[in-house]
Amino acid sequence: CRTADGVRIELFANLGTVADAQAAAVQGAEGSGLVRSEFLFLDRDDAPSEDEQHAAYQGIADALPGKPIIVRLLDVGGDKPAAYIPIDAEENPALGLRGIRVGLAYRDLLETQVRAILRTQPAGQCRIMLPMVASVAEVHAVREVVEHLRSEMGITTPVEVGVMVETPAAAITADLLADAADFLSIGTNDLTQYVLAMDRGNPAVAAGVDAMHPAVLRMIAETCRRATAKGRWVGVCGGLASDPAAIPILVGLGATELSTVPGFVAEAKAIVRGV
Ligand code: PEP
Ligand code: MG
Repeated sequence: CRTADGVRIELFANLGTVADAQAAAVQGAEGSGLVRSEFLFLDRDDAPSEDEQHAAYQGIADALPGKPIIVRLLDVGGDKPAAYIPIDAEENPALGLRGIRVGLAYRDLLETQVRAILRTQPAGQCRIMLPMVASVAEVHAVREVVEHLRSEMGITTPVEVGVMVETPAAAITADLLADAADFLSIGTNDLTQYVLAMDRGNPAVAAGVDAMHPAVLRMIAETCRRATAKGRWVGVCGGLASDPAAIPILVGLGATELSTVPGFVAEAKAIVRGV
């Protein structure tokens, strides 16, 4: 869809399952800006095999044929523990081994998942996105794994690698991340938690966890400014993209892709068209 003055905004959906992908297709989603791959990993005693993961990613890709599917690498730890990943009890789990830190600590998990994503057909439809990035070095490390496996598997089509902006560090270094990544997508749920220093799951501070706080909006603005200056697009896949009041603000700050809950895609398009 386009804004009233002609700016192209891509409207994607956040997905957890193949059923979500089908619902998103009905709503007119142009792809998926966030596949929460942990749905395959949680509430079980062992990690899903490469084949099992591949079947799930292929099912999602098939439900949205020809459309980009951005698969987020495993985002466990913190508020999403997986029994078979031995993470010691942490005093501050939200600041501990979570997101891409887990994949880099358990390379076999990371490599199995990347292989499962790379196997999906057609090559290149599924893109890869890193959760909870804090440093450019993390992007380089994952890219190395992706490129190594891609060449080992004989896949000639390039596969895009993007980062989630969920930490203040990522937001303020978006220009540096843009040099290392193909795209950036703002996870406003975690970004809000880390910018405001308020636990997103703690009811005692729930009233203060506001993604429209000026501090969060400035982080979003800074991300868009720094990354677009480097020629990279910035999307929003956190909950703020599914807030009707926020859409004009996000588009105004420079986001060109919004990934919303599947049932909100059509309404989001209507809002964008009126801005
Ligand atoms: C976010 O943090 O905004 C996000 C999209 O990731 P999750 O909600 O799965 O942590
Ligand atoms: Mg998050």
